[in-house]
Amino acid sequence: MAAEIKYQGVYPGLVTKIIASYVSHHNVAPEQIPDLINSVHRTINSLGKPAEPQGELTPAVPLRRSVQRDAVICVECGWKGKMLRRHLSTRHGLTGEQYLKRWGLASDHPLTAPTYSEQRSALAKELGLGRGGRQTAPPPASDAPRPRRGRPRGSRTARAG
Ligand SMILES: [Zn+2]
Repeated sequence: MAAEIKYQGVYPGLVTKIIASYVSHHNVAPEQIPDLINSVHRTINSLGKPAEPQGELTPAVPLRRSVQRDAVICVECGWKGKMLRRHLSTRHGLTGEQYLKRWGLASDHPLTAPTYSEQRSALAKELGLGRGGRQTAPPPASDAPRPRRGRPRGSRTARAG
């Protein structure tokens, strides 16, 4: 009897099914079958593995935790503070946009601590800074940042995870 191929960590039944289905739909030479089994096996095996972040980038903190109520964390290095933009440009030479793109974050991902930007805009109003000069006021932060299902406005669809 021919030696049976030992599968490790994969459901043999599943592989067999896929192979059988493939062979019945395609003209496969007998000598191609081992290769076929191999590649099916490998593919199935790789399915179980967690998706890796793009490239070799590894965030210093999980992206979801990079925004907290009163602080934002730089996922490049783990720096924590109220405003990320300045840190990004001085430390990493990145603009906020580059940073977001680099990490696949939505374009409305906060770079300023939510509470801080609230305070800031409140303060700005108090001081009457509202008169039309050129200002670097933070973008109107929606008071409920939702990193889960941001709707990127750009034409590019940002992929989360
Ligand atoms: Zn940093």
